[in-house]
Amino acid sequence: MHHIEQVYINGEFVTPHGTERFDLYNPATARVIGQVRLADAVDGERAIAAARAAFPAWSKTTKQTRIAALQRMHAAVAARHDDLLEAVVEEYGAPASRSAWMASYPAEVITQAIAALEAFEFTTVAGAARVVMTPLGVAGLITPWNSDAGFICGKLAAALAAGCTAVIKPSEMSALQTQIVTEALHAADLPPGVFNIVTGRGDTVGETISRHPHVAKISFTGSTRTGKAILRNAAENFTRVTLELGGKSPTLILEDADIRQAVPLAIQAGLMNSGQACVAGTRILVPQSRKAEFEQALAQAIAAVKSGDPRDSATDVGPMVSEKQWQRVQGYIQKGLAEGARLLAGGVGRPEGTRDGWFVRPTLFTDVHNQMAIAREEIFGPVLCVIAYRDEAEAIAIANDTDYGLSALVLGGDSGRARRVAQQIHAGRVLVNTLTHEPKAPFGGFKHSGVGREMGAWGISAFMEPKSILS
Ligand code: NAD
Repeated sequence: MHHIEQVYINGEFVTPHGTERFDLYNPATARVIGQVRLADAVDGERAIAAARAAFPAWSKTTKQTRIAALQRMHAAVAARHDDLLEAVVEEYGAPASRSAWMASYPAEVITQAIAALEAFEFTTVAGAARVVMTPLGVAGLITPWNSDAGFICGKLAAALAAGCTAVIKPSEMSALQTQIVTEALHAADLPPGVFNIVTGRGDTVGETISRHPHVAKISFTGSTRTGKAILRNAAENFTRVTLELGGKSPTLILEDADIRQAVPLAIQAGLMNSGQACVAGTRILVPQSRKAEFEQALAQAIAAVKSGDPRDSATDVGPMVSEKQWQRVQGYIQKGLAEGARLLAGGVGRPEGTRDGWFVRPTLFTDVHNQMAIAREEIFGPVLCVIAYRDEAEAIAIANDTDYGLSALVLGGDSGRARRVAQQIHAGRVLVNTLTHEPKAPFGGFKHSGVGREMGAWGISAFMEPKSILS
């Protein structure tokens, strides 16, 4: 059993004022594997005060000092790779393909922030003005459970690069991963108070951070519902926000697509991170003229996806993170059936050969129209919809007929045409015939998928305010 009894405030591991114990589970067995003692609002206040006290000195540090600090953070996080790998399997249920990335990405994202900081111009000239980028102050960084260490390290590295100090409120469900990252960051020997980590509930610690007059910036990744609550709270103090929220991303397969290339990419885009990915391509748009052909190939491909024990190297899809998430996925599969969608693969219940864990059957619906709940709402599990379209214009209209706008994938034989279609999709990121990630490019959503951008110079600027000086 793991027992996590302390939070991290002002450069020290301290016993929190909060006394609530929260159970941690292994989602592959549905058994309790530990407990975390949660921070409360008082701890949130203390962490904000520590970050506020550290801000004047940190905001005046040179670029070289910040790069050196980020390099120490990188080395310390990279040194805990194996511990992180074990934690993402045990606490999150990530299968081999995903867990390897989840254990290496936290250090990698710090390297990416170092490169962005090296190239960052803190002072530029605009006409007669000198424009000085000024750090905002204390940043509240609120992160979800689906990539705990990666989000903590990415947001913190960008905030520190900008000259902000930080209070981090990770998800209470990822406390094992957070503990490893906290120990690593402590070993990086940054000045006390520059970063603080308080694991607690959203409605206590999260609310304290998002309402606090001494927090100048919130960078949040999580659900659209929580994002709206944070935006409302932030309005009171004009707190700046970056919100990375949900998605219902389209995978638009054009009529000239090569089925052998398109199908594996569509399945991979839809099922990444066991379907628990904000960018997952969960609406697969196929031409009516080739519907039967694509239905057959997609059904065959998804039937071959192995959902089960994350420790089995053959597993592609691991368990859902919690019972609540498992129930949610089951509910949507039932809703799809009730709405008249036709199952091509999967369905309710657990996959064959699995037992107590929160395993779900990778599920593919067809005869879906874009007004059904399964086509409009983020399910956050391996449940995909096939939606047929008549022509390119209708395909683009369906792709854009969503509240969300985080990501999209366009697949087609003529890459020029596919790029022209990509230009008409309303999303923060549109991939054409690839699933490659570009860390130098801005990442974020249109519409209800968020506000602002992370990564690269955009990610650092998000923690700053431009000040024009004329003399
Ligand atoms: P969530 O919104 O429930 O929780 C996210 C974080 O917010 C947690 O730390 C939670 O404790 C905290 N929180 C909850 N209520 C709060 C409140 N009132 N005030 C302040 N903080 C509060 O999301 P989740 O279930 O942990 O994560 C899944 C969601 O995250 C999905 O919707 C997914 O699409 C989204 N997500 C988005 C991105 C992106 O980059 N756009 C990436 C990953 C996940």
